[in-house]
Amino acid sequence: MPFLPYYDHIDPGQGGSSMVIPELPRPVLDRPQVFTCSLCHEDFPSYEHWFQHRFEAHPYRRPLLVLGSREVNTPRFVVTTTLKPKQIQAINAEICRLDGQTISPATLAHRLATAKSGFFKVELVGAEGKLKVEYEISIEIATTEHASLVEQEFARLYTSGGVSVTSISGFIQATAGARTAQRYVDGLAAYLYGLLAKDQRGGTILSQEQGRARFNEAHQALAEIDRPLATVVAGIVSFQLNAFSKNEGLVAVPRLRVAMRWFDSVRKTGLLGAIEECDSTLAPTAHVPLDSSTDEVLTWMGLSPSKISALTRQIEKRMQQDDWLPEDRIKAKVLLASIYESEGAITKAAQVARGFRHDPVFGRLAERLISDKKDSADE
Ligand SMILES: [Zn+2]
Repeated sequence: MPFLPYYDHIDPGQGGSSMVIPELPRPVLDRPQVFTCSLCHEDFPSYEHWFQHRFEAHPYRRPLLVLGSREVNTPRFVVTTTLKPKQIQAINAEICRLDGQTISPATLAHRLATAKSGFFKVELVGAEGKLKVEYEISIEIATTEHASLVEQEFARLYTSGGVSVTSISGFIQATAGARTAQRYVDGLAAYLYGLLAKDQRGGTILSQEQGRARFNEAHQALAEIDRPLATVVAGIVSFQLNAFSKNEGLVAVPRLRVAMRWFDSVRKTGLLGAIEECDSTLAPTAHVPLDSSTDEVLTWMGLSPSKISALTRQIEKRMQQDDWLPEDRIKAKVLLASIYESEGAITKAAQVARGFRHDPVFGRLAERLISDKKDSADE
């Protein structure tokens, strides 16, 4: 069974004790360098810039709770990372209530920021009492001790050599004591079940389609958890689902980072540049289980141009294979088109491109390759 190596500043072999890899920045530091406006997609270098822009450029009337860089638009919301009081803002709220009690916005921010766990009812009233928004905020911040225990148990899947329905049950049982990290456990378990379903192995009874639903659950739970393993797994799921724009915070996992960025640039520009090389001299300290098609795509992308060219028949076979999910077949097609284009085989590249012309992610690339072929035929 394939595993994807990554760097973890927690050494699972040391009983959860923290070990910082000196040559590498802590993966978490790579995380929120850019704050993107959800309305106009403009990027901002700091939280303050983003916040100011968000409510000055796009006026908003309704009361709104903003937690970190998230606008809470759902009646239920789970907080899994520690926030500072200044990152908790009640917008357009003349009255704030916490569990029925009227308090100041500053007190609301302080109360939510200092709670490690618990369930809170937040009510914001604005527009001279005409608009009211209610939230149920669940705070589930894992203690370091509990999160480390989860990671330690997860690492056993590598040392024991594989994932099966039985080993996932074992993981869930072994982490039952990590009370504050249950969402972390749920997310990782959903990922593992999704993996077995995708590969149809390890005693799974789920279909590939049910596996996809598990991956979505895993992403939802893990994307908000500020731990390297959670970030890596959420990144893998984004790659599996061809959501290449979600590529922040992946310094811990260089192979995936290179692949995500390459596909993201192809998606945005419609151009097939060279694939960056991963130059890492340090040996990775941890491993996360991977489905076989993601492993194969990442392996291709790590090869030199001549070596990947020798694999065209293999890639062609994969892109027609029924047990490969549509997202993975598309990735194979894009890579094959890239090989053909780099060899100057424009007709062949255009032929492959017809196969993903209507793909919402790579439509732009397909159109470009098809029209390049037409232009060359006109000459
Ligand atoms: Zn904006």
